[in-house]
Amino acid sequence: MQLKVLGCSGGIGGENRTTAFLLDEHVLIDAGTGVGSLSLESLLAIDHIFLTHAHFDHIACLPMLLDTVAGMRRGAPITLHARRDTITILQEHVFNWRIWPDFSLIPDESNALLHFSPQEVGETHEVAGCRITALPAVHTVPAVGFGLDSGKSTVVFSGDSTGGDAFWAAVNSTQNLATLIIETAFPVREASLAHAARHLCPATLQCELARLTLPAEILITHLKPADSELILHEIEALGLSARALCTGEVIEF
Ligand SMILES: [Zn+2]
Ligand SMILES: [Zn+2]
Repeated sequence: MQLKVLGCSGGIGGENRTTAFLLDEHVLIDAGTGVGSLSLESLLAIDHIFLTHAHFDHIACLPMLLDTVAGMRRGAPITLHARRDTITILQEHVFNWRIWPDFSLIPDESNALLHFSPQEVGETHEVAGCRITALPAVHTVPAVGFGLDSGKSTVVFSGDSTGGDAFWAAVNSTQNLATLIIETAFPVREASLAHAARHLCPATLQCELARLTLPAEILITHLKPADSELILHEIEALGLSARALCTGEVIEF
């Protein structure tokens, strides 16, 4: 199974794209601006979208993805998996006929393009041969991380989160953990902003990673573009065994 990184930045500009991963051909994990680099053919192949949360950097391309493929999928729905709270936020603030049409009613309710599939923390949805489990997350809005279990190994993506007891309990009970993708959005000098925004900085990353009891490759995501080099330098200076995730890289698992 392949997890392709379409976007892994905390912002845009140049090569930076916000969070989105393509799991093989048919499953999208988050729908940030990284989705914009996919071909029309690849967009058409997406049958399932799993969202960590409703912040704009994780959903920016969702409305346009739906609009782009709406007339071409010949009635085949796209299923959006997310917490009920996240679905409600999207319904109230995005698919409200003002920001964007409600694709769960287009062309009509019984043949709609967009189908919501609520997934609460701890629940596993098996799609396209992958067991995808919603993991606990601590953020400013309802959020989850995901455990992606191919049957051979598991990639954990923490989403936007400061970690927390429940998250590490879930990660440390993963049978076949191979890779942990974890955010570090801010440098140490922005520690108070990171805390207020429920993101990590290198100092809090160090505290959180100390709670990991299993061996795993650690990949850092969601670096703010203006400070990405500084954040990586700070992580290196702390002696943490981790490297930056790269747009375009493919994780085999
Ligand atoms: Zn967020
Ligand atoms: Zn984010």
